Amino acid sequence: CVSIEASQTGCDKVIFGGNIKKKASGATMNALVATNRNFKRAAKLLGLDSKLEKSLLIPFREIKVECTIPKDDGTLASFVGFRVQHDNARGPMKGGIRYHPEVDPDEVNALAQLMTWKTAVANIPYGGAKGGIGCNPGELSVSELERLTRVFAQKIHDLIGIHTDVPAPDMGTGPQTMAWILDEYSKFHGYSPAVVTGKPIDLGGSLGRDAATGRGVLFATEALLKEHGKTISGQRFVIQGFGNVGAWAAQLISEQGGKIVAVSDITGAIKNSKGLDIPSLLKHAKEHKGVKGFHGGDPIDPKSILVEDCDILIPAALGGVINRENASDIKSKFIIEAANHPTDPEADEILSKKGVVILPDIFANSGGVTVSYFEWVQNIQGFMWDEEKVNNELKNYMTRGFKDVKEMCKTHNCDLRMGAFTLGVNRVARATVLRGWGA
Ligand code: GLU
Repeated sequence: CVSIEASQTGCDKVIFGGNIKKKASGATMNALVATNRNFKRAAKLLGLDSKLEKSLLIPFREIKVECTIPKDDGTLASFVGFRVQHDNARGPMKGGIRYHPEVDPDEVNALAQLMTWKTAVANIPYGGAKGGIGCNPGELSVSELERLTRVFAQKIHDLIGIHTDVPAPDMGTGPQTMAWILDEYSKFHGYSPAVVTGKPIDLGGSLGRDAATGRGVLFATEALLKEHGKTISGQRFVIQGFGNVGAWAAQLISEQGGKIVAVSDITGAIKNSKGLDIPSLLKHAKEHKGVKGFHGGDPIDPKSILVEDCDILIPAALGGVINRENASDIKSKFIIEAANHPTDPEADEILSKKGVVILPDIFANSGGVTVSYFEWVQNIQGFMWDEEKVNNELKNYMTRGFKDVKEMCKTHNCDLRMGAFTLGVNRVARATVLRGWGA
């Protein structure tokens, strides 16, 4: 396991490190090691000098806070919260807040860095950040979650802001979490809806934000398939994860004629080679808090979901799930990374030798942060867009993003991951150089 000291620097010491203690995801490589390795490869392709490379890698600020709350039973419980602000060369730092038992500083660091490249790939005027609290939201009551969120917001309110750092939902959080953060922030700074995105519509949230990451995945997949002379219709999909992103992706893909042959979530996995009835599965998952027990398919071992036979695999859950232990068994021809860093560099190498085409996270799942940007713009303008405008603009951004990534692939003769990384890193590098070194 990589030391905290190493993670705090960003950091050269961990770049060629390797192993981590086993996580629920089955990851075999530390998330920061994996992300730094991809960054280093992109920096080399771009020929960045070492000063610039170091400055882009080291996070702007890392915040760690202790959040102590009274539980409903009267006892006290303490949770560690993080906010890593990675880079602000292109604008306010932007990224979600994750509630998950396995949140750790290295992973938050990696996710913050990925947000910097993601916002640059999407070409929206932001930097990157990420936050997280090490907790199991499923084991906390609504009032405990509210207290935890408010304490976290009290501890970071001075370090976030409309033009500084704008949080959003991520795994285990949602519009209600954002509403509590907005309320807490407003007690100190006055009512400021643009300080968070992914809010409830009644508090200035954007129409289309809830579906945005899944819809972005659909547009990204369409763009990739078009290049290969294919359409969504008739393709067989497997989706790992049936939370906000996986469920929306499944719904929108099935509406376009895609056949979802297997899905999984933390409760279990279901397979139906003829195609799952997604509207019924969505209803079941809502009523039973998961896909387990759905009668429209056969239960399978969730561990085997990634190696199920299909044309297109969509990991939409945890990081590091595709690694050296399962990469050679993957049967799909395409992988669309709806999750953040689902594939580590060792798996990338194995899959590339097999000819599998991977659409990387920092482009494929950028629909969420892109519509977050639209929400922020609407809040600042004080003018609400209709859903059609949101979805049309999202399509424009995703289509242009794919073209820009492909252009970099051509320039640097590289795969889509390096195409996206070189695109993002180059845009941030240019902004950094233009702003200067503060001399
Ligand atoms: N958590 C999402 C992501 O990983 C959205 C971030 C945002 O909207 O700021 O991209």
